[in-house]
Amino acid sequence: MILDGRLPQGYVVVCTSSGDSHSFLVRRLGPSVECPECGRTALSPDLLQAYYERDSRLELSSAPPVRRHRPRGEDELRAAAE
Ligand SMILES: [Zn+2]
Repeated sequence: MILDGRLPQGYVVVCTSSGDSHSFLVRRLGPSVECPECGRTALSPDLLQAYYERDSRLELSSAPPVRRHRPRGEDELRAAAE
């Protein structure tokens, strides 16, 4: 099971079991996460650790996150153009 991302609604977890994979949303991470489809469980600290490790690798190796390099005022300009 891996933590795939974070949304305002919660965490996106992808569960892979014997060639099949499905994702689900977890509103709050407890001590462990249980897959609603196959009942597998994973420990939340493990998921989080793997997630942040992957996240920091991405930041080092790829282009910077889009948000940081967004020019100020772009939203206002776009709103005015629409
Ligand atoms: Zn599952």
